[in-house]
Amino acid sequence: MIYLTEEHIKQIEAHGERTFPFECGGMIIGHFDAEKGKRTIELLPMENAMDAAEQHNRVLILPKDVLRAERFAREKKLDVIGYYHSHPDCEAVPSQFDLDHALPVWTYIIVSVEAGKAVDVRAWEMENDRSKFNEEEILRETKELFTDAFSR
Ligand SMILES: [Zn+2]
Repeated sequence: MIYLTEEHIKQIEAHGERTFPFECGGMIIGHFDAEKGKRTIELLPMENAMDAAEQHNRVLILPKDVLRAERFAREKKLDVIGYYHSHPDCEAVPSQFDLDHALPVWTYIIVSVEAGKAVDVRAWEMENDRSKFNEEEILRETKELFTDAFSR
């Protein structure tokens, strides 16, 4: 499972609405915790590296963006724990392209944006053998509850 605050969800929805009808994407920065799941601390929006003709259905993460995100996370003693992107006029379900480019352990959050409005946010984690994605539970926490759950 992955913890996100309402604020994080709103940020992902707003990014997808802003770039509509093109996809948006960004890194999820936080902690891995074996017992409590993944904790999102902040989001790092990324440029879409695909050219305009392909942007409506594909987002490419450039190696330099991954490096930048890893450096950004390390400086804060955090990890890159996943990637979010939007599916314009399409369900919040990973595509074959998403599966082909997925990394193990990372959480993939997808926001479905229909006619410019975010309608659904779902999280996915790839099966270790790369055969498929499994849906991951999103725990939406208020800031207070969220801090408490991780400070015990
Ligand atoms: Zn996708």
